Amino acid sequence: MSTPTTHEFQAEVKQVLDIVIHSLYTDREIFVRELVSNAADALEKMRLTQLTEKSVFDANLDLEINITTDETAKTLTIQDYGIGMTRAELIENLGTIAHSGSKAFVKALQNQGKKGDAQLIGQFGVGFYSAFMVADQVKVYTHSWREDEEHLCWSSDGAGSYTIEEAPGQRRGSRIVLHLKGDAGEFSQASRIRQILGKYSNFVGFPISLNGERVNNVEAVWLKSKDQVTDEQYSQFYKFAAKAFDEPSYRLHFQADVPIVINALIFAPGENMELWGMGQMQPGVALYCKKVLIDPHPPKLLPEWLRFARGVIDSEDLPLNISRESMQDSALVKKLGSVVTSRFLKFLDKEAADDGKKYAEFYKKFSRFFKEGVATDHENREAVAKLLRFESSLTGKDESIGLSAYVSRMKEGQKEIYYQVAPSRSSIESGPYVDAFKARGIEVLYLYETIDEYVVSSLGEFDGKKLVAVNSDKVELDDSAAADGVALSAEDTDKLCGWLKEKLGGRVEAVKAGKRLVSSPALVLTPEGELNPQMRQMMRALQKDEVEPPKVIMEINPHHELIRRLCAIRESDAEAAGLVAEQMLDNALLAAGLLDDPQSLIGRTQKLMERLLAKS
Ligand code: ADP
Ligand code: MG
Repeated sequence: MSTPTTHEFQAEVKQVLDIVIHSLYTDREIFVRELVSNAADALEKMRLTQLTEKSVFDANLDLEINITTDETAKTLTIQDYGIGMTRAELIENLGTIAHSGSKAFVKALQNQGKKGDAQLIGQFGVGFYSAFMVADQVKVYTHSWREDEEHLCWSSDGAGSYTIEEAPGQRRGSRIVLHLKGDAGEFSQASRIRQILGKYSNFVGFPISLNGERVNNVEAVWLKSKDQVTDEQYSQFYKFAAKAFDEPSYRLHFQADVPIVINALIFAPGENMELWGMGQMQPGVALYCKKVLIDPHPPKLLPEWLRFARGVIDSEDLPLNISRESMQDSALVKKLGSVVTSRFLKFLDKEAADDGKKYAEFYKKFSRFFKEGVATDHENREAVAKLLRFESSLTGKDESIGLSAYVSRMKEGQKEIYYQVAPSRSSIESGPYVDAFKARGIEVLYLYETIDEYVVSSLGEFDGKKLVAVNSDKVELDDSAAADGVALSAEDTDKLCGWLKEKLGGRVEAVKAGKRLVSSPALVLTPEGELNPQMRQMMRALQKDEVEPPKVIMEINPHHELIRRLCAIRESDAEAAGLVAEQMLDNALLAAGLLDDPQSLIGRTQKLMERLLAKS
């Protein structure tokens, strides 16, 4: 027999172990859930392997989990007849972790004020190490399902290294022996373990015995009727199935017979793990056929943007022997996915209507997914769009409104939905565009994220109403609210427009009088097809100065005093008029986020100031 080999843990593992051993002290019992969940995963993999592999080590063993306690020796043993591990797999799976997992785990503990809370651990793919919260020595005896592999024992005290040695006589699968720490003796008591298992063991898809006695009756929560499941059981199931620590925000549990038989239990989580640095999530709604797992992360069952959802879809109409590969292209699976998706979207829409405050909290964390949905999911675009929320000219700061609510309170005769994309409420409200809409009592949606531009352009319209940017030259507002009082005559206005076009030359496509301006002298409009400010900024960041100057239409306000005076001095003081015209355009471009070279403002304002002071 060969001698034991000693291996250093990867640095990320050491970091996680350090935290597990020294700073997790609440909810230590969670390690039982983690180890049992690993055992169940290994059994599940074995079940799938058996479907295709002919030669399997210990092929006659039942797929089950056996737990034994020994109060005298202060040990707890968890054994499964799953796939087991080879030497290389022991090193890969128990000696290293994916970078993002350990980093995200450490960050989560630091940031979320959850210090010391062991509940978090399963979500980050480091659940195995929770054993070291309660054990000062962990041994993993194992034999892989592959016939020619070794009988092995992996062992570590969690301090920095582990050893692997041969250990003849292992059955297939893994047997994990915990030598409990002095203060963790309770976990060698059968009654204590039974109590912990009571919380979730019925969700485990395989038989579990404790000291030879069966403790669970494998049941599928999703096949029960709603009144047979308590809130607590739903929550435990969610945590078990999603390896999650948070409470779900929403759950939808339904059965349907047409067009296909469906039993579905879908959760929206409480936390968005993509915001926690875990990278892009895998799809989290598993596919079952009559309680038998077909795929825990089916890639094409639900639309990709719904990857944050967790839970189960079970359909007895699926052929039991459907392979994961053929499943992805099956028409039945597509139908399943689309029925569940539209149910879930309707459900969220109703929940949002019933409790807007709760929905707003949820939306804050998950809005990215809905925006992605509108941009990518043609089939459900309008239904997803209903779930979007935005601030507007009629909401307060931090209040928001959905598109349906916007449409329901549109002014009589209003045919379009208006919005402006800009980084903040204050930048929109201090700009020249919303004034005219406010004066007419028309609501404008405020969109703060760069991707919002993309979202509205993919959506195009909602409820038959076009979405139109307030700075588009397509906006037609009626005359009702135009300021009264003095204004330039139509003739003077025309002349001034002509003069401005000549003065400003290639910088503007056209100059015209606008009805929409209320308190600003002028603004610029961007014709359709022109890059919006957000896109321009991105392009400029990428290509530096190669982006062409913006093509804009300048609209002037004949009611504004500055415009009237400009008209008056146009001929008598051509130099001042020229300076003012240029400055007015720059101001309008600046307000629109389209001024590429703010430096030019400095020289000109200098001149304007000199002229101003020379007169006094
Ligand atoms: P996760 O379960 O999220 O992958 P863990 O830290 O719990 O993370 O486990 C790490 C890996 O160790 C598992 O992915 C699996 O490959 C392996 N493993 C753990 N327990 C067992 C077991 N009982 N049988 C086989 N492999 C196991
Ligand atoms: Mg695990």
